[in-house]
Amino acid sequence: MATNTLIKLTNLISKLPDEDLNTLYEMACSFFAGHLSTDNPNCPYCNCSHIVKNGHKCGKQEYFCKGCGKTFVSTTKTLMANSHQPREVWEEVIKDTLSGDAISFTAKRLGISHDCVFNMRHKFLLAVCQLQTENGECLSDVSELDETFVLDSYKGRKLPSFVVRKARKHGAKAEKRGISKEYICICTGVQRKGCAIAKTVNRAKPSSKELQEIFGNRIENGTLILCDGLKSYHSLEKSTGCSVKDINTETVKDFYNLNTVNNFHSFIKGRYEFYRGVATKYLNRYNALFSLAYRYTADKIEWICHQLLDVSCSSRHISCKDVKSSGLLVI
Ligand SMILES: [Zn+2]
Repeated sequence: MATNTLIKLTNLISKLPDEDLNTLYEMACSFFAGHLSTDNPNCPYCNCSHIVKNGHKCGKQEYFCKGCGKTFVSTTKTLMANSHQPREVWEEVIKDTLSGDAISFTAKRLGISHDCVFNMRHKFLLAVCQLQTENGECLSDVSELDETFVLDSYKGRKLPSFVVRKARKHGAKAEKRGISKEYICICTGVQRKGCAIAKTVNRAKPSSKELQEIFGNRIENGTLILCDGLKSYHSLEKSTGCSVKDINTETVKDFYNLNTVNNFHSFIKGRYEFYRGVATKYLNRYNALFSLAYRYTADKIEWICHQLLDVSCSSRHISCKDVKSSGLLVI
């Protein structure tokens, strides 16, 4: 029936003179502006845009999808799913995390418990890891690769039995000088004026296989990679189509240097020291944060909040169980 009416209407419209068509168009625009709200999200199950408001559920706006008949709320499949904290609080936790503030600082500032901020922060960090796996930016143009080392940390728990040293006090140095087993390697790559990558796979300097695991799908064909003598970097040439140059064998030092990646290392160490270490098991979650927060500008916050806090078909739901067990570094 409705289709019949639509056919008749279309026939009538096609016979209208131009002038009347213009009037009709304006009438239709104002009619639809009042009837269709563009504020409604698309359905997180089928991406349909025929969504109507359907009252409230647990204090949240509920929606009904005319496409698949399912209902959802404003937090379904988002990072806020199953959370009692409102969006405003989530945005503040995300902002503080990106700025490098301590969990205790955020908890005090927002008047919520340390445990609650801890869970929110780690859900956010896991979502950042997820975003980087899904659509992580690639290094291209001229990029610098190098490693940096941080002291391991068993923050918040007893030293495991395989650790032979005594527990370190805050700010203490390693027992042995130079690279010892107390250090953990963070492999890093930075594009000059571009993105940054940081990941830990081992305590020691990376092998060809480990570099492949980190950078294998994160370097664009034709990229010039600068590095500092470690032979294993050359293995990336074959797999990614980049060309690798050792800065020690080049003479033009104002181009062949690792200043950019060294700057990223200073950024990581600054954050790491401010946190008084990061529990080693969480290091890759923080590496993902360091990559995102380096060269971070305030205008990115809106994009990040949109990706994680707005209803969409991509599931951003991370549970407290994930926080306990997902993406832990075991080395
Ligand atoms: Zn639907």
